[in-house]
Amino acid sequence: MRSITHGAPVQQDPPHTFEPPFCLNPKCHFHSEHTVAQAASPWFYRHGTYDTESFGEVPRFRCRHCGRGCSRQSFRLDYYAKRVLDYRELLRQLVSCGSTRDMSRAFCATTSTVANRIERLARGAAALHAGVLQRVGVAEAMVIDGFQNFAVSKYFPNNINVLIGQHSGLLYDCDYRTIRRSGRMSERQKQRRGQLEEHFLAPSKALVEGFRTLVDSALRVRSHVHRGPDEGSAAEPARSSAVEQSSEAISTLRLLSDEKSEYKWALAGDPHYRQLAEAHIITHECTLSTEARTAENPLFVVNYFDRQLRKDLKECVRHTVCFGRNVSNVMQRMLLYRLYHNHYKAYRHRRKTERHESRAGIDEGWIERQLARLYESRPFLSRTPPIETDRLVWLRQIVTPLGKEHEYLPKFALA
Ligand SMILES: [Zn+2]
Repeated sequence: MRSITHGAPVQQDPPHTFEPPFCLNPKCHFHSEHTVAQAASPWFYRHGTYDTESFGEVPRFRCRHCGRGCSRQSFRLDYYAKRVLDYRELLRQLVSCGSTRDMSRAFCATTSTVANRIERLARGAAALHAGVLQRVGVAEAMVIDGFQNFAVSKYFPNNINVLIGQHSGLLYDCDYRTIRRSGRMSERQKQRRGQLEEHFLAPSKALVEGFRTLVDSALRVRSHVHRGPDEGSAAEPARSSAVEQSSEAISTLRLLSDEKSEYKWALAGDPHYRQLAEAHIITHECTLSTEARTAENPLFVVNYFDRQLRKDLKECVRHTVCFGRNVSNVMQRMLLYRLYHNHYKAYRHRRKTERHESRAGIDEGWIERQLARLYESRPFLSRTPPIETDRLVWLRQIVTPLGKEHEYLPKFALA
């Protein structure tokens, strides 16, 4: 049984033995770990140390090739941080229905420090997930569903579309869309909605676009199952490759969803998807949402996931006062919940050693090694590019209704 808080201890190198794995300069010959491994002599030289209160003595280095400097801190998840918070405990509290303020009280830290550490860990989770999707070993049917909640205010409901494997229960992808508030409203509420819509209007095709994003994602995952890892990048667009592959080379991708008309339009209203359906590369099967939500229901995995989210993630609990105030932060927490769901949580309560990752045919040894690094090592956007939906979260590019036009992103998050 894998536990968040009882993971393998991270090997802390003494300051004098640590060696930087690569040069930080993206244009340098030694930016590639492959070149570093082949170098006959060290590519760097030691360039003194400095003392810090939180991390002790920190060694500095300089590249022999380009002269770019770096330090031990440059490769830590806590780069630029002045205080150490236990990331494992943070994740445990987050997925145990802890709010940001609960965590700030537990850690005696400000809510912004907690949010900052969640952001760092979420970037690590995004980097890890890109590797996970390239190692999926089963060609299973995929279920798409929308989880409805709200952020900022109840006038801005959202649809977090999820793509989950029907056999494995693995959460492959999630996509955030703000939708227009509908349903029964009083006259005063309608008036208020009108006033707010002068400042922010939810896109009209949010559900259609969200569904298509996940269909593309499912096709990308499927192409990796057939090609295996390390052949092609996760960022490669599905649109260009999918039609070119013959139906013999790629088995039919079964997409399952409820009867939402937007989902049907998403496939029927675009020639690209119509072509894929005619070539039997994708099939779409719908199930009535009124059908009993039992284990026999074809959409069981999403019904189960929705239920877990409602109880585990504070902002998803019904009638909570701890709702999300910033959409990028909402999705960062979702990426961490995905990490927990895929790699820590048992597939079923009575089958403790089986996890969603193992049912998806992903090498558990590889996951163990990645999880051991996750809480210590800084992820680099240039080295482990995340999938498209995660990239928006990483770069804080999802628009928060009534929020700032440009959100602050530290420069090191772009490296
Ligand atoms: Zn260099």
